[in-house]
This record gives sequence, C-alpha cells and structure tokens, in this order.
Amino acid sequence: MEKAVFCDFDGTITAEETFVAVLKKFAPELAAEIIPSMYALQIPLRVGVRQILESIPSRRYGEIIEFTRTKKIRPGFREFVDFLHLSEVPLIVVSGGIKGMVEAVLGDLVDRIHAIHALDINTAGENLQVISAWEGESELVDKVKVMASYNGENAIREASSLQLIAIGDSVTDLNMAIASPIVFARDRLAQYLDQRQKNYLPWNDFFDIRDTLTRMWQL
Ligand SMILES: [Mg+2]
Repeated sequence: MEKAVFCDFDGTITAEETFVAVLKKFAPELAAEIIPSMYALQIPLRVGVRQILESIPSRRYGEIIEFTRTKKIRPGFREFVDFLHLSEVPLIVVSGGIKGMVEAVLGDLVDRIHAIHALDINTAGENLQVISAWEGESELVDKVKVMASYNGENAIREASSLQLIAIGDSVTDLNMAIASPIVFARDRLAQYLDQRQKNYLPWNDFFDIRDTLTRMWQL
C-alpha cells in the first residue's frame, strides 16, 4: 500500500511553539486579548488568528521570518527526512502557521519535503493579509482537508487508498490523528487521544519515529 506521512510543524518539528510566540511578539495587545478567548473556545482559531495576523503591518514581515529562522528543530528530523526519502514515502508538512516561517526553519530541507501546506501571506497592502487554501469550519488550515486531498486531486501516483501516518503534538492535530490509522503523538495530543481511547505511538524525537517505522515496515 502507498504510504504518506503528515507532520505538524509547530512544537512538533520545532522544539518549541513558534507561531504563538510570533503573534505575541508582533501583535502583543491583540494577542493578549484574543488568544485566551481562542483557548477557551469562545472565538474560533480561524477568526482569531486571522484578526491578529491582519493587525500586523506588512513592513514587519521580514522581521517575523528572521525571528523564526533561529528556532531549533527537534533532534533526528534531518535523519527522518533521509529515511523517508530512502523509503520513497512522501513527507507532507501541515501547519496552521505561516508558510514562510516553516520554510525559514527548514532551510535546505525544504527541497526534500514533498509539500508544505500552511498559510500564505500577502504583504502588498498596509497590513498582512492571510490567504488559506485549506480554510475549514474552525481553523485556517483544516489538516483533515489537506489529508483527504491526497486521496483525491493531489493523489500521489495512482494510489486510491493511502496508508496515512500522522505526527503531532497538540489539539490542532487531533482530527488529523483520529483520521489516521498510525499516529505518533506527544504532549497534549497524547492526552487528548488517551481520553478518546484512540491508539497512538508515543514519541520524543524523530529518531524514535524513524526506528518505529523501520520496524513496522521491516526495512
Ligand atoms: Mg503543533
């Protein structure tokens, strides 16, 4: 069966959250007002994140990317990319953050990743403008929508049914995890899956995931 790995970015590939840090640094007042309401589920992420991002002047976009560039990647990610490449399994990065941030952190690894799905930003106007090809009911990037597209218009080769592997760390990965037969979960995502009695593989770094998949695929 054809396989595809769908991996979250923030707090998963990066060792710490970068996107919330950007919102707090570049729009401190609005972030302080809106972020707690998003956590309390009073404002959908889709609305709150857009409102905060679109309050930031376009001229600061370069600073946002530079602020992100120095963020650390979790150990073993480069080796994991090599492993998937060798196994001919596509790696798809799915992030609710800004695509330019993901690319800045990944650097030369970008070319070795099958696709990155995240927010595009238009900097032509006074303030940032958010563009999302994957907007869902509650989030700007509906990760399940992205996954589903790989059995449809974005189909890898002619696979009609892909074996989905999901990797994540938090509540924004929950639906993606529920939709995947194989899930690697850490932090809050693991707790949410425990509550729902959904099976998952715990992980700490990308060496763990590589070693588990090696055993699973008997390479
Ligand atoms: Mg995350």
